[in-house]
Amino acid sequence: MQDATRRGTADNTLHEGSLQEIHRFALSRRAFLRAGAGAALGLGLPAWLGGCASLPEHASPAWKELAASLQGTLLMPGAAAFAKRAAPWALQYASTLPQGIAQCADEADVRTCLRWAQANDMPLVARSGGHSYAGYSTTTGLMIDVSAMHAVDIDPSTGIATLGGGARNRNVYAACRPFSRAVTHGRCKEVGVAGLVLGGGIGFNMRLHGLTCDGLKATRIVLADGRALACSEREHDDLFWACRGAGGGNFGIHTEFTFETFPVGEYTVFELTWRDRFAEVFEALQTMALSAPDSLGMKLSVKAEAGKPGLALTILGQLADSKDALMAMLAPVFAVRPPSTSKIDALPYWDAQELLSEQGDPEFSHERSRFVKGALSTGAIHAILANLGAWPGTHVAATWKFFLMGGRIDAKRPADMAFVHRGCSMISSIELEWTEADSPETLTKNEAWLTGFHDAMAHYTTPYCYQNFIDPSQRDYLDAYYGENLPRLREVKRRYDPTDVFRYPQSIPV
Ligand SMILES: Cc1cc2nc3c(=O)[nH]c(=O)nc-3n(C[C@H](O)[C@H](O)[C@H](O)COP(=O)(O)OP(=O)(O)OC[C@H]3O[C@@H](n4cnc5c(N)ncnc54)[C@H](O)[C@@H]3O)c2cc1C
Repeated sequence: MQDATRRGTADNTLHEGSLQEIHRFALSRRAFLRAGAGAALGLGLPAWLGGCASLPEHASPAWKELAASLQGTLLMPGAAAFAKRAAPWALQYASTLPQGIAQCADEADVRTCLRWAQANDMPLVARSGGHSYAGYSTTTGLMIDVSAMHAVDIDPSTGIATLGGGARNRNVYAACRPFSRAVTHGRCKEVGVAGLVLGGGIGFNMRLHGLTCDGLKATRIVLADGRALACSEREHDDLFWACRGAGGGNFGIHTEFTFETFPVGEYTVFELTWRDRFAEVFEALQTMALSAPDSLGMKLSVKAEAGKPGLALTILGQLADSKDALMAMLAPVFAVRPPSTSKIDALPYWDAQELLSEQGDPEFSHERSRFVKGALSTGAIHAILANLGAWPGTHVAATWKFFLMGGRIDAKRPADMAFVHRGCSMISSIELEWTEADSPETLTKNEAWLTGFHDAMAHYTTPYCYQNFIDPSQRDYLDAYYGENLPRLREVKRRYDPTDVFRYPQSIPV
C-alpha cells in the first residue's frame, strides 16, 4: 500500500464475477468525477458541505470531489486536526505524511475511498489506532482512517459485542464495564482493536479465554473491488480464517467486528519489583509461571533505565482468584528473595484494569520478538542479563520481557486460523526506547546492540516472531510471522486482493 509502483496482476483463480466487479469498480479518475460520486452514492447536501470545509483552496478537483463524496471529513495538510491524526505511534515514521486523511464515518465512505484511490492511482493505507510498531499505517497517499467508526454495542441477552472497525481498547473498556464482561484486550487503551485482533491479540486474559482473535465470531471487510463481505465460520470462511492472525493491512479494510464476551468478577492484580539476585529470582518466577493455573496472566520484564543504576526485574499481571491464592503461588519466589517493592490488590475486573493499563503515548521505539517453547535455560537467563548489562544507553530505556502464554491459547491448533503460534510458553521481546535528544551515533550503537541481542536469543527461542510486534528489520519475516500457514495465506491473498492493492513493506505477497 505504501509503494505506488508495486503492482500485482489479476490471478487466474479469480472468479469471473469478481473480475467484472473490479472492472466496474476501478473507474478512471475522469469517470469518477463525471459520475459525481457523492450524488451516485446518494449522499445529502450537508455531507458535501461538511466534507469540503476542511480543504485548502488549492486542493485539486480530485481531492475536492473525494471530500464531497464522504459522509466523514477529509483532512489535508494545514487542517487543524491533520498533524495529530497523521502522526503514528512510532515517532520515527512521523515524517511520512499523507496527502489526505479520509475520516470515514461509515462503510460507504470506506468504499468511496478505495474506489477514489484506485481511480486516481493514489497509494492508500488503512489506519485504526495508529499503533503499528513499524509505522505501517502511514502513507504518502490517502490514509483511510476508520477511527471515527468506534461504536461498541453489547447485547446483554447474548453477551455478543459488535464493534466499529475503528474502536480502540478504551472503547471496549467503557462498553464492557457496565456489564462486567470482557474480551481479551491489550493493556494500551489507545491501540486499535482492528490491528490487535487482525494480528492475534495478546492480553492478560489470553490463558483463561484465548487470544483476541480466538473470540472473534464475525467481521465485515471491504475489498479492493468494493465488495463489502460478511465473514464468519459460515460465510467466506477462507477469508475469516486468514483475518484471524494475518489480517492487518493485507486483504481489505474491516468495518465491523463481532466478539463473544465473557463475564468477569473480582481479580487480584499485582506489580512486584526486585533490584538484585536477578538470575535466581528469574528462575523461581519462571518455575512458578510455567506451572501456574490458566487464571494467571503475567508479564515479566527486566529493564535498564537511563539515569538509574543496575537493572529492575518486574512482574505485572492478574490472577482470577484471591490474594491468598496469589501469595501461595509466590511463596517459593519470596523464599529466594522478597521483592523490593510490591503492590497487590483484589478488585473488580475493570477497576483492576486501571492499574494494569498503559496510556501508550507516541514514542521512539523498536521492539523485536520471539516465541519461546518450554522454559528458558539458565544460559538464556544469563544471556538476557548480560546483554542488558551491556546496553549502550539512550535517554530512555531498554527492556527484555516475556508474556506468559499457554492455557486456552492451545485449545486451537496452528492450522485452525492464521495465527500459527500455538503450543508456546511465552512471547519474549526486546524493546529499545529513545528520544530526539539521542544522537545518530548513539542510535547506531543501540541498533547494533539490539540486533546482537536478538540474534543471541535465537539460540534459546523458536525462530517465530509476533506479527503484531511487526518488525521492519526482521529477516525472513513472512516465515517468522506465519510459519506453515503462509502458503494458504498467499492463496487467500490471490483470491481476495489479486492486484495487491493492500500492500506495505511486509505484506503478504500475491
Ligand atoms: C503501546 C502499545 C501497546 C501494545 N499492546 C499490545 C497488547 O497488549 N497486545 C497485543 O497483542 N498487541 C499490543 N500492541 C501491538 C498492537 O497490537 C499492534 O501494533 C497493532 O497492529 C496496532 O493496531 P492499531 O489499529 O492501533 O494500529 P494501526 O497502525 O492503525 O494498524 C496496524 C496495521 O493494521 C492495518 N489496519 C488498521 N486498521 C485496519 C482495518 N480496519 N482493516 C484492515 N487493516 C487495518 C494498518 O494498515 C496496519 O497495517 C501494542 C502496541 C503498542 C504501540
